[in-house]
Amino acid sequence: MNGTATNDPPVNEMGLVVVGAAGRMGQALIRAVHTIPGARVAGAVERAGSPHLGKDAGELAGIGNIDVAIGDDPLPAFAKADGVLDFTSPAASVEFAGYAAQARIAHVIGTTGCSTDDNAKIQAAARHATIVKSGNMSLGVNLLAVLVEQAARALDADDFDIEILEMHHRHKVDAPSGTALLLGEAAAVGRGIDLDGNSVRVRDGHTGVRRTGSIGFATLRGGSVVGDHSVVLAGIGERITLAHHAEDRAIFARGAVKAALWARGRKPGLYSMRDVLGLN
Ligand code: NAD
Repeated sequence: MNGTATNDPPVNEMGLVVVGAAGRMGQALIRAVHTIPGARVAGAVERAGSPHLGKDAGELAGIGNIDVAIGDDPLPAFAKADGVLDFTSPAASVEFAGYAAQARIAHVIGTTGCSTDDNAKIQAAARHATIVKSGNMSLGVNLLAVLVEQAARALDADDFDIEILEMHHRHKVDAPSGTALLLGEAAAVGRGIDLDGNSVRVRDGHTGVRRTGSIGFATLRGGSVVGDHSVVLAGIGERITLAHHAEDRAIFARGAVKAALWARGRKPGLYSMRDVLGLN
C-alpha cells in the first residue's frame, strides 16, 4: 500500500511536557510517553537548582537520548505543548495549574498532599483549563474505589467498621496517601457521609472506643514499596478485605498518559480518573 492510498490525516501526536522530570514518577512518565502511541515528549521541566538541569530526559529515565533537555522554565515548554503531566509537589502543581490555564492546555495532576486551599486554587484554574486530578491514576485502584463505595453502601455502619491501611516506600512525604484518601472518600460516598467530619487519621494513647460510622486510617512507611492499600470492613464474626498492590510505577504513568489523551479538546473543568476510565 502506498502513502496516497488513504485519506486519513497524519497522526497528530499529543505533545506532553513532563514537570518534575527527574523524580521517581517523572522518569516513569518519560518512559510511558515515549512508548505510548499518540503521545510524544514535548518538554521536560525540573525545579530551579536541580542537579539534573541540562541532562537529556530520556537518558536520565534509562531509555537513551530523546533530544529533550531538562530545563527550569515551564513557560516556553508549555507554549509549544498540548498537555502537562505533573507529579511534583502541591505548591508546584498549583503554580503549574495557572500556567496551563493561561496556555489553554490539558493538565494531568497526580501530586498528592494538596491542602484545601491548594485544591481551591486548582479548581479555579479548571474554569479555563481541562484538568484531570487523581490521587491514583491506575485502573486497578479506581476500580477498587467503585467496589469500596458499593460495599460501604451495602454494609450498615452499625454492623461494619471501615479501616484503611496503606504502606509506601521510605521517601514518601505525605500521609495518609492520596490513594488512601481516595478510597476513604469512596467509602464516605457509599455511606452518605462527609469524610472530613468522620475520618480518624491517627490513634495514639488512650483513645476510647471506636466511634460508630467513623473511617479509620493507618499508615506504614518503609523500603521500596510502590503502594499497598487495604480497605477492611470489619463486622462481628466476619471481615471483608478489598486490596490493591502496585508493583510498578508504570501503572500510574500509563494512566496519566491515558488521561492526557482523553482530556485533549475536552471542555474546561476538573475531572477525575473515574471520568477518564468511564467508571462514574
Ligand atoms: P519525587 O520526589 O521523586 O519527584 C518529584 C519531583 O518534582 C522532584 O524531582 C522535584 O525536584 C520535582 N519538583 C518539585 N517542585 C518542582 C517545581 N516547582 N518545578 C519542577 N519540578 C519540581 O516524588 P515522586 O515519588 O515522583 O512523587 C511525586 C508526587 O506524585 C507525590 O505527591 C506522590 O505522592 C505522587 N504520586 C501520585 C501517584 C498517582 O497515581 N496519583 C502515583 C505515585 C506518586
